[in-house]
Amino acid sequence: MEPYRQSSLVDVSRQVARSRRDFLRTAAGMALGSALMPSGAFARSGTARTKRKVVVITFGGGARDQETFAPEGQENIPHLMRDLLPGSTFFTQVVNRGILGHYVATASLATGVYETINNFASLPPEHPTVFEYFRRDLRRPPSDAWVVAPSNGFNRIGESNHRSYGPGAGARVILPKHLLAAASKGRADYEHLLRDNYETPYYAPALQGGEFELRQLEEILKLSVDDFKAHARTLSSPDELSVYIVRQLMRQVAPSLLWITMHDIDVAHAGAYSLYIDGIQRTDRLCAEVWETIQKEPEYAGKTTLFILPDFGRDSDEDAGGNGFQHHRTGDPLSRTTWMLALGAGVREGVVYDRPIDSTDLVPTLGSMLDFSTSLAQGKPIQELV
Ligand SMILES: [Zn+2]
Repeated sequence: MEPYRQSSLVDVSRQVARSRRDFLRTAAGMALGSALMPSGAFARSGTARTKRKVVVITFGGGARDQETFAPEGQENIPHLMRDLLPGSTFFTQVVNRGILGHYVATASLATGVYETINNFASLPPEHPTVFEYFRRDLRRPPSDAWVVAPSNGFNRIGESNHRSYGPGAGARVILPKHLLAAASKGRADYEHLLRDNYETPYYAPALQGGEFELRQLEEILKLSVDDFKAHARTLSSPDELSVYIVRQLMRQVAPSLLWITMHDIDVAHAGAYSLYIDGIQRTDRLCAEVWETIQKEPEYAGKTTLFILPDFGRDSDEDAGGNGFQHHRTGDPLSRTTWMLALGAGVREGVVYDRPIDSTDLVPTLGSMLDFSTSLAQGKPIQELV
């Protein structure tokens, strides 16, 4: 591989995008999209805009191409390769110009603005979130926008502190670990599911969970505490727990805007390559399971668009200032050049685009697809999707 360190973000992003594109065309048989293809795909999908649903999955904690989309990585993502990519529109060059911390980067994806809040503090995003735009413009109730998030640090992501929006205007956030902590009273047999953060020993607030969480479990998810605990015992990771909750939420509440933040891959910070690979393989499988659920659930089937994208990548092996797969410290061009897969209602099948788009383009794209305005977002609607 060429040394990327001296190259500019633009050059590296273009190179990475081309190699992803070429690989996807060969391995997944996708066609190269062109700017000449007609847009307005969503308008042609035949589903009234008011019935449309969107599910967003962030592909947890960042992975590098050599363990995913490069030829040597594809064995780790068989479900994306086989089940999802052939029916999707895939963007090979999604550039993240913001801060590479998981909470702040995910918040930026959700606001369409590069947020600068402290990644390790319990703060809301400063700009309106997609959930607030969606609910206000389309007059949707709180139950129509949900976030399922991995850790304490994400509990403020559902709504901003922007003066025109703020408390009560955004998404409901559910933290499956809080549910489990409340249900199990912190029992040791769930420790592998309750780990809150892979990143730093300095930020590890105790998981809280109480009556409120237990009420969510029974009243919203229609799960008894005993059934929930029994099922949790069969699961191998926090993201498995999240997807279990997601399925229950889809069945019982069927929100139109559902955001799932995966995080297992970030176990890479612990330094064990095999655990990082396990995380990628599990995330790959869980993405396919969510897609399967979308197709099976009558409230979602045929009218839902699924987006999958990482918050950012990880350091390259070539960068002397980084630690390879383990961390995302250097902000090098490779860790900033991610991808996005869109699948389902209104999306062209089997097309790959390699022009640069920005991480902040997601929110305006969702706004154009579902017909709500995202006036303070910095990005632009992705023309190939709207
Ligand atoms: Zn991390």
